[in-house]
Amino acid sequence: MPRILLGKPIIDALKARSLERVALLKNNGVDPALAIVRVGARPDDLSYERTAIKRAESLGIALRLFEIEEDAGQDALMKAIDEVNADSGIQGCLMFRPLPKGYDEEAACEALDPRKDIDGIGRAALARVFTGRGEGFAPCTAAACLEMLDGYDVSIEGKRVVVVGRSLVIGRPVAMMLLERNATVTLCHSRTANLPSVMRDADIVVLATGRAKAYGADCFREGQVVLDVGINVDADGNLCGDADFEAAEAVLGEHGAITPVPRGVGGVTTSVLMKHVLDAAERCRQ
Ligand code: NAP
Repeated sequence: MPRILLGKPIIDALKARSLERVALLKNNGVDPALAIVRVGARPDDLSYERTAIKRAESLGIALRLFEIEEDAGQDALMKAIDEVNADSGIQGCLMFRPLPKGYDEEAACEALDPRKDIDGIGRAALARVFTGRGEGFAPCTAAACLEMLDGYDVSIEGKRVVVVGRSLVIGRPVAMMLLERNATVTLCHSRTANLPSVMRDADIVVLATGRAKAYGADCFREGQVVLDVGINVDADGNLCGDADFEAAEAVLGEHGAITPVPRGVGGVTTSVLMKHVLDAAERCRQ
C-alpha cells in the first residue's frame, strides 16, 4: 500500500511556525489582519470562509469580513477593495472567485494592492510566479502543493512531474513553481493526447481538473507520488478527488504515495493563506 500523505502534519507544522511569527509581530506592535471579500453567498465560499475564520482565530490573526450582496454591483465591490487597500491595519486580502455574473473580475483583481494580494489573483503576483522575480504571492493552493512535497521530503529536483489541469489558480502556477525547483514539468489539459501514458511516465503527478474519480489504474504506475488537488462530489454525494483513490492505491504500491480527498491538500491551502498574511505583515514592518 502507498504512503497516505495527510494534510494534518503539514497543517500542524505550519501552525506552530505561524504562532511564533504572530507572537513576534505582536511584540513589535503589528497586529496581523486578513480581509475576506465575498460577493454573494456561494456555499463553497461560505465553507472556505468558516475554515479561514477558525484558522485565523486559532493563530491570533484578526479578520475583517467584507460581505457584498450579490446584486450590489461592481462599484460596491471596488469600494470594498479600495477600503482594504487604504487600511494599513490589513496586510492581506482573500477575494472569493469566481465572482457572480455581471462583475468584472479582472478589474477587481487588478485593483487589489499587489502587496496585499496574498492569493496571487493579480498580474503582478502571477508575474512573480512566472519569472521567479519580484515579491508577489503564489496562489495558495499551488503553494500548498509545494508545502506537501517539502513537508513529506519528496525530492523535486530532476524529477519528471506531470501536472494535469492548466488553470491560472492551480495548474499553471504549480507547474512554474516546480520548474523553478528544477523538476522537468509536463503540463496537461483536456486536449492532451494519450494522457494515461503521459501520466504513467511521471515520478510525481499533480491532479487539478475537477473531474470526480476520473483517473484510474491505467493512469498510474508503481512508486509515483500523486497529489490530488481536485475537490469533487461523487455519485453518492461524498467528497472525492480527481483520482479513483482505491484504483490508484492498488497500483502505486509500497514505494508510492498519494494525498486523500478530503484530508489531503485542501486544508493546507488555508494554512498557506495564513502564512502569506504573516509574510505580508512582516514585509510591512521592514
Ligand atoms: P478549472 O479552472 O475548471 O480547470 C480545470 C482544468 O482541468 C483545465 O485546465 C482543463 O483543461 C483540465 N481538464 C478538464 N477536463 C480534462 C480532461 N478530461 N483531461 C485533462 N484535463 C482536463 O479548475 P481549477 O479551478 O483549476 O480547479 C481544479 C480542481 O481543484 C477542482 O476540483 C477544484 O474544486 C479544486 N480546487 C482545490 C483547491 C484546494 O484548496 N485543494 C482550491 C481550488 C480548487 P482545459 O484548459 O483544456 O479546459
